Amino acid sequence: MPAARVEAVAPGSPAARAGVCVGDEVLAVNGEAVRDVIAYQLRADDAHVELELRRGGLERAVTVDKAPGAPLGLELASAVFDRVRTCDNHCPFCFIYQLPKGMRRSLYVKDDDYRLSFLYGNFTTLTRFTEADLERVVSERLSPLYVSIHATDPDVRAHLLRNRRGATSLRWLELLLDAGIEVHGQVVVCPGVNDGPVLDDTLLGVLDRFPALATLGVVPLGVSAHSHEPEMRAHAPGEADAVVDLVETWQPRYERALGRRLVYASDEYYLLAKREFPPLAAYDGCPQHENGIGMARTFEGEVRAALAGHTVAPTGTRTGFFAWVDGAPADGYRAPKSHQPLAAFLAQGARNSAVTTTHLITGELGARVLEPLLAVLPGDVRLLTIENRFFGGNIGVTGLLTGADISAALAIAPAHDRFLLPDVTLSRGRFLDGTTVAQLPRRVEIVATDGAALVRALKEQ
Ligand code: SF4
Repeated sequence: MPAARVEAVAPGSPAARAGVCVGDEVLAVNGEAVRDVIAYQLRADDAHVELELRRGGLERAVTVDKAPGAPLGLELASAVFDRVRTCDNHCPFCFIYQLPKGMRRSLYVKDDDYRLSFLYGNFTTLTRFTEADLERVVSERLSPLYVSIHATDPDVRAHLLRNRRGATSLRWLELLLDAGIEVHGQVVVCPGVNDGPVLDDTLLGVLDRFPALATLGVVPLGVSAHSHEPEMRAHAPGEADAVVDLVETWQPRYERALGRRLVYASDEYYLLAKREFPPLAAYDGCPQHENGIGMARTFEGEVRAALAGHTVAPTGTRTGFFAWVDGAPADGYRAPKSHQPLAAFLAQGARNSAVTTTHLITGELGARVLEPLLAVLPGDVRLLTIENRFFGGNIGVTGLLTGADISAALAIAPAHDRFLLPDVTLSRGRFLDGTTVAQLPRRVEIVATDGAALVRALKEQ
């Protein structure tokens, strides 16, 4: 029977009052075995909750009474209590194949599980989706979901996923949309494989077969120095330009046919093509913000609003299922960023008030977004732009910087200046290479990765 280990119990919560302890295993809720946090949450919402627990090998029952809908106050070790459904594809552009050896094990897990799509926004190819999954998604309204399309041509899709089922698994997408499930799609573009006429055909295929798709994000593949795939290469600037052109050609077509833009090119494409980002309004609320679409304009808007004294809710915060559920935290890239909020970190030691220069630690792509804002940011603010030597290749996003690369840059930076580190570089307080902020050669302050938090931190100077 699947079981969920209790990682934490909120002090004073209904579960704490009922005697649930860290280390207990939840076997059943209200008499039913639960296999993931979605099923757990549905049952834990009741006012009267009976938990079957295992503690030290012995089973016991605990009753919790609380207001209906109120959280039990438990954090569970994982979101999926049976096994994460792993993917049976072998995409040549898969970033997991491009990771160096020796990183945290959780980073090598290739999941293709619709439950993680619903919980965390992970993209799924649907190659392992089943009739029973469809029934559950529709009956429990597990919406929105995120689906990797890549190409609508069956042969090209099967080639890209290196899986014959890739040719047919988009039939599930049709059924999900027919059932009214909100689905966001993405195309990872590999130059010479699914760009140009193939991308054009995919955008036509979406209009033809999936007109109810909520949005479609078009993102470039990342190629690290650890890739062993000769067919995979970075975009040339002209190729990136052509992708942006195609997306912008299709937006008005979709608008005419469906009344909405539907397709968006990622920020990285505009940087690669050296083109201006579209205005914030052209992102229609940034439904694929976490996929790097509209992030730059959002960040700029947050900075300008904060400087004008307006309060803005950071767009980077997920507002989905995990905004309210008490259950398992995401792991890997989506884990909570830091155990060390800025205020707590600042309390560790008084900053030298004579320091006048602040350095913003950023990756090469982030630097190009921050550069135009330096003139409006308060104080003497400079960029500490860090090349990603750990992954190499064309990897330039700030979120994939490692402690080793940041350390090397800090070691030769002015010793007494101030350094701000965006929390997107951290996962549970660690960098991707497993090192921590405490191991850096300079004192850095962790700042949430949104424009308002950056302005607040700079005003604390
Ligand atoms: S579906 Fe995703 S996890 Fe699986 S091989 Fe392709 S890119 Fe990697």
